Amino acid sequence: MLQRRAFLRRAAAMAAVLGLDPVRLLRADSPVPLTNIAGGEGDRFREGHMLSTWNHGFTSNEEGWRQMQAGGSALDAVVEGTALVESDPTGTSVGLGGRPDRSGRVTLDACVMGPSGDAGGVCFLEDIEHPVKVARAVMENTPHVLLAGDGAREFALDQGFETRDLLTPDSKAAWEKWRQSAEYKPIINVENHDTIGMIAQDLEGNLAGACTTSGLAYKLRGRVGDSPIIGAGLFVDNEVGACTATGLGEAVMKTLGSFLVVELIRQGRDPQTACEEAVDRIMKKMSVKDLQVGYLAMDTQGRAGSSAIHPGFNYVRTRAGQSELIDAAHRS
Ligand code: ASP
Repeated sequence: MLQRRAFLRRAAAMAAVLGLDPVRLLRADSPVPLTNIAGGEGDRFREGHMLSTWNHGFTSNEEGWRQMQAGGSALDAVVEGTALVESDPTGTSVGLGGRPDRSGRVTLDACVMGPSGDAGGVCFLEDIEHPVKVARAVMENTPHVLLAGDGAREFALDQGFETRDLLTPDSKAAWEKWRQSAEYKPIINVENHDTIGMIAQDLEGNLAGACTTSGLAYKLRGRVGDSPIIGAGLFVDNEVGACTATGLGEAVMKTLGSFLVVELIRQGRDPQTACEEAVDRIMKKMSVKDLQVGYLAMDTQGRAGSSAIHPGFNYVRTRAGQSELIDAAHRS
């Protein structure tokens, strides 16, 4: 704790010397001139490093940066960052406003993983706006990793979470329109995707990740995707790196994609190559004409990588409070 305080004091002092506001939140068009800080490992961590899937990542990463500048950990950054996106009613595949299952009910999946290797998740959760925060509570307040359905909901209520109707008027109208044909054909490679996977390295060099979604629009009732499954939608190893996934969860689950990416980094691949190999694994094993998957990874050295089956997957990378939207490389 003392060490942490000393570190934060040093970071604040350095910011003051450089004339920087340590809580300034900036995007790519207004860079923070932190790149002139040269030095060893400690200096690199001072940047804070965050990757979030899709362009809602600006919101999540900026909140993550704010958390880190206020002394928060990578875990605080990913949980609070993704929770903001869960609350946005315009996001159609996460939290409030997420598209319902075919019966018209919104069911949510989420998980978190921290630097100690601890993890928590919820799946098939209804009526709770912040599944990612419930996932954190599962990790911190129970001996379990994953709670499902009514049990997850009861746990959330016990923990003080309140219920909320997550089916917005827009979402209800879209579902009613879908019901007219009721064709069950999940659309995968949609741009403007909102499922959010976020991985981060904090100012002390620790890694954490979070992944949260309402899953596929009009899915079969009871369907759970990759997003709450540790090793599929998310995996973190503080000695190696972190990875999160988006796209068709079934393909990610069958190949345990995020775990695979982190294991490939452990074996010496850089994050980019590791993501490409994990995508290639899917492409080798299944027909990918109508199937999109994207991986996003970082290692402990601050390197990032991303790869998708098809074009259209993008993500936001933030370092030192400066964010940029990047189109992921694709393999098809
Ligand atoms: N992976 C999520 C799922 O299959 C969906 C997504 O990423 O949009 O539930």
